[in-house]
Amino acid sequence: MKKIGFIGLGNMGARMVKNLLNANYEVTGYDINEEFVNQLLPIGLKKASDLNDISKDTDIIITMLPNGEIVEGVLDSIIDSLRPGTLISDSSTIDVDKAKHLHKKCEDRKLLFLDAPVSGGVGGAEDGTLTFMVGGGEDAYEIMLPFFQIMGKNSLLCGSPGSGQATKACNNMLLATTMIGVGEAFSLGQNLGLDPEKLFEILSTSTGSCWAINSYCPVKGVGPSSPADNDFKPGFSADLMLKDLTIALKAIESTNTSAPFGKNSQENFKRMVKENRGSLDFSAITKFNN
Ligand code: NAD
Repeated sequence: MKKIGFIGLGNMGARMVKNLLNANYEVTGYDINEEFVNQLLPIGLKKASDLNDISKDTDIIITMLPNGEIVEGVLDSIIDSLRPGTLISDSSTIDVDKAKHLHKKCEDRKLLFLDAPVSGGVGGAEDGTLTFMVGGGEDAYEIMLPFFQIMGKNSLLCGSPGSGQATKACNNMLLATTMIGVGEAFSLGQNLGLDPEKLFEILSTSTGSCWAINSYCPVKGVGPSSPADNDFKPGFSADLMLKDLTIALKAIESTNTSAPFGKNSQENFKRMVKENRGSLDFSAITKFNN
């Protein structure tokens, strides 16, 4: 049975690890916050005292870290102690170019690398229903598939190195833009005197329907339960959405893509974060976007 090392046991990582442990895999975990490691010891996590400890004797290393610089820093500290053929699967959301760079770095050391960011948030991590968008080689993807199936319900090899992060950037740019549009539709409805519940009933079953309405309606008391019903406690924070939009913007610029709505969404989230509302759920953009 393959031995797994898991680095980054925060909101997402801790939940993903639980599912691997429930499937009886041997997982050694590391986080700079030792408390996060200790919390998982009672359910079978093995504790790595430092990063070198995790790199010994593991076949697969999964990283779930805040950003690309941290992922590269972690990789640099363990790269010399990894056995050739070790697979590193990074599920953090990071810059597309950084992901390509890390693929190359690993290839030069005869290591396998996948960029495998996820969609589905903390709920998906908890329930094992994440979607993995994967960039890299087929061999590495085949090795990781059983683990993606434990931590998630969908996974797709999107293409060459960086394709997973590129797919995630497209998805989250669209999500940010649709959420802002949903907020505008409900504001207009309110100003026209419509009952928001009736508006929801039609929007969620008509041509305007989308995930931002159907599953995450940003209006309190309307539609299924969502952060709007809980004072916009995240969920997925506006800070993280801004990070993802900044990645998308960099990709837009480097590819000369025309995406004025995506740019506009980033400006709106920048403003929200600047006004110290970054810790709210991203769907709160519909309240402050004016
Ligand atoms: P988080 O901040 O809760 O967890 C990150 C963890 O990394 C923390 O526990 C932190 O202590 C640890 N860490 C930081 N530097 C480290 C280092 N040098 N070595 C070891 N551990 C280190 O973040 P999260 O919400 O779990 O998100 C993780 C990644 O997943 C991010 O890239 C995020 O964009 C992405 N993501 C998050 C969500 C979500 O809903 N939270 C959804 C999809 C993707």
